[in-house]
Amino acid sequence: MKYIGAHVSAAGGVDQAVIRAHQLEATAFALFTKNQRQWRAAPLSAEVIAAFRAACEKYHYSSAQILPHDSYLINLGHPVEEALEKSRDAFLDEMQRCEQLGLSLLNFHPGSHLHQIDEHECLKRIAESINIVLDKTAGVTAVIENTAGQGSNLGFRFEQLAEIIAGVEDKSRVGVCIDTCHAFAGGYDLRTEEECVKTFAEFERVVGFQYLRGMHLNDAKSEFNSRVDRHHSLGEGNIGKTVFSWLMKDSRFDGIPMILETVNPDIWKDEIAWLKSEQKSVN
Ligand SMILES: [Zn+2]
Ligand SMILES: [Zn+2]
Repeated sequence: MKYIGAHVSAAGGVDQAVIRAHQLEATAFALFTKNQRQWRAAPLSAEVIAAFRAACEKYHYSSAQILPHDSYLINLGHPVEEALEKSRDAFLDEMQRCEQLGLSLLNFHPGSHLHQIDEHECLKRIAESINIVLDKTAGVTAVIENTAGQGSNLGFRFEQLAEIIAGVEDKSRVGVCIDTCHAFAGGYDLRTEEECVKTFAEFERVVGFQYLRGMHLNDAKSEFNSRVDRHHSLGEGNIGKTVFSWLMKDSRFDGIPMILETVNPDIWKDEIAWLKSEQKSVN
């Protein structure tokens, strides 16, 4: 069973995100549980928490179908101690918000070395950040997203994801989310079925499907191996539709949220309907 949806707005409260997902006929969704461009947010009120849980029950979304995303400001591999502490505190707050909402996954970008420390030192800091936060929370898995490798962002190579995982003590609560646009921009080709098979065999060899906890389904405005992060609607970018159709037919991607972060929300409903239809079609 595939869980397919989009990253919906939580404007008006996190409970509104659930309703928006339902309107898209989505079987999965992503959301920010606070403003993603601010460090601080008011705590979730008991009313909002109850409304979110009730909406999830009403529209049949279990925690396995929901992939919250953390704030863009957080850098768990920050080279400067004070800034690292600030990120770790903010990430803990994000994890606790997930706990309160009954969510079991939290998707985040690993971090950036900002050209001040080397790659391995940065990956070590990220793993340590995850350890600290997992130690203080329960029931929520830290889901590392692969990046496009823009600037000094790490996590664009599967080896980097594996190195972070290797440093995490509780392997049962760490996972990865593969964003197709980021993978493509990071140098993993997905333009033909052959390339898809090769890329995910590489993923299996280096990281392992047992860690795959989510997917982001995006075509790319950016070029192959460009290390530039620019999403596009399915079939309109440089990757093309093949990979999305291929993913829908592969059972290794069952039971995890598969989330659109494509650029035109007006066609999300159609994109979701198309993805659902591709599960069955034979080509
Ligand atoms: Zn992301
Ligand atoms: Zn993404």
